[in-house]
Amino acid sequence: MLVSAKEMLTKAKAGKYAVGQFNINNLEWTKAILLTAEELKSPVILGVSEGAGKYMAGYKTVVGMVNGMIEELGITVPVALHLDHGSYEACYKCIDAGFSSVMFDGSHYPIDENVAKTKELVAVCEAKGLSLEAEVGAIGGEEDGVVGAGECADPDECKMIADLGVTMLAAGIGNIHGKYPANWKGLSFETLDAVQQKTGDMPLVLHGGTGIPEDMIKKAISLGVAKINVNTECQLSFAAATRKYIEDGKDLVGKGFDPRKILAPGFEAIKATVKEKMELFGSVGKA
Ligand SMILES: [Zn+2]
Repeated sequence: MLVSAKEMLTKAKAGKYAVGQFNINNLEWTKAILLTAEELKSPVILGVSEGAGKYMAGYKTVVGMVNGMIEELGITVPVALHLDHGSYEACYKCIDAGFSSVMFDGSHYPIDENVAKTKELVAVCEAKGLSLEAEVGAIGGEEDGVVGAGECADPDECKMIADLGVTMLAAGIGNIHGKYPANWKGLSFETLDAVQQKTGDMPLVLHGGTGIPEDMIKKAISLGVAKINVNTECQLSFAAATRKYIEDGKDLVGKGFDPRKILAPGFEAIKATVKEKMELFGSVGKA
């Protein structure tokens, strides 16, 4: 059964570790992440972007697939199904479809409008026992068409949004989606420290987890980050393993053209990436 992310993140923040959010794209992705979480006894958050939701034939299809897998694969660790960077409209669609968690990305609205819409969604999610993530200070990167230095959130704005009763808060601390440019300045721990001091027990979320050096990840966790989003890294490892299979000509040998065989190395590569991240984040054995 799907659960809200509230309890797993409250425990993570108190225990000084982080739960990974791994974005899913299809059946192989979902199965690889769920099986790894179960093997390592780690709580897990499955992230679904609006684009991935559309690709997988809609949010109801995603809910059906994930619920079916949890039952048929015998998954016992806590699993949250979470909308990643949702618009106001997508949040409602996912809540109706049966997601257990949503992110409302109101960072592009003026702060007053972000506050008003977040407040409304807090009430809706609370009534249904769902978790809600809010974002303050836009997180840059390829999704915006420009790769630049990530923005830093205003700690006072973070407190304002945290006080509305959201479950977890994504604050820009110089992080970026996608691959980091060579001249990236690193995470702003000064900002993170200030945000945590203003927001207290609120679990903080680090987006753009791909390519952040391990020591920075560990320091971010020590300063209150309890959820880390990983997306690009699984895509890169899946692509590399699939490329190798084809380049080695394995699809031309015997029944190597069977899609279940072609997708197998990528599936294993995702499992390995998720394992590596769960070990780094400290969530192994915490389910
Ligand atoms: Zn993000």
